[in-house]
Amino acid sequence: MQKLFGAIEAGGTKCNCAVVDETYSIVKELRIPTTTPAETLAAISEFFKAHQVSAIGVSSFGPLDLNPQSPSFGFITCTPKLAWRDTDILAPLREFKVPLAIDTDVNGAALGEHTCGAARGLDTFVYFTIGTGIGGGGMCGGKLMHGLTHPEMGHIFIPHDTKRDPFPGCCPSHGDCFEGLASGPALEKRWGRDPSLIPANDKAWSLQAHYIALAVVNTVLTLSPQRVILGGGVMQNEFLFPMIRAHVRQLLNGYIRHSSLLEAIDTFIVAPKLGNRAGVIGAAAMAQQAIAMCKSPSQ
Ligand code: ZN
Repeated sequence: MQKLFGAIEAGGTKCNCAVVDETYSIVKELRIPTTTPAETLAAISEFFKAHQVSAIGVSSFGPLDLNPQSPSFGFITCTPKLAWRDTDILAPLREFKVPLAIDTDVNGAALGEHTCGAARGLDTFVYFTIGTGIGGGGMCGGKLMHGLTHPEMGHIFIPHDTKRDPFPGCCPSHGDCFEGLASGPALEKRWGRDPSLIPANDKAWSLQAHYIALAVVNTVLTLSPQRVILGGGVMQNEFLFPMIRAHVRQLLNGYIRHSSLLEAIDTFIVAPKLGNRAGVIGAAAMAQQAIAMCKSPSQ
């Protein structure tokens, strides 16, 4: 009989829960609004009670404590969503006595793309999600990126020419970091209108492409990824892709002599293949890996 995996993509506004089979087909799914931890986690637990899953993977908004040795492993830590601060998101899942795995939402989406999407067969790549916030994750040498904690690529500092762009940025922690300058809310605050109302030929988008390209270039120079995947609500504006690719080539100025950048940049900077399913597919892949890694029930 096929094994079934539980997958949770916990986001700031909704949690996507799914039961996924071994071929990564979604057997059943449910969207639960992210309200209070008590209410949302109870609804998630209720959903999985009706299904016999062999393991559960969670890709969650954060920041998260991902140190298995830490007493607060699996907790959402200092999130701006105050009700969720210091929440043990794994707590209600322990009752199922199955292996559990957790990672950031972006690492989850990256793993999804690696499993059956735009990063198949690669061992070093980066996934950025550019939407309400900006996050970055991915793999180095075939492993999801972890270290001291987990990467926070959305908060890197990029050059900000305040003459060209006097907007001070809107990151509550850093002001004009990448997220502060280029998230969906930054676009809306800078230009005073919903980004969906800004026409494709507006100068807003050339500045946006410039900022995203700066982040991509810094990533290319730092991690040497084999591909960079750009997802999230802002990247639904597909016209940004050729603009970003052009800026990246210009900024790199031929310095990195690799055909992926010099001749095939269209397949180097790409959209996610799984779209908004990347998170749950990644969470299911985490669940599958957790079975291999955990001989005993959840930690
Ligand atoms: Zn920031």
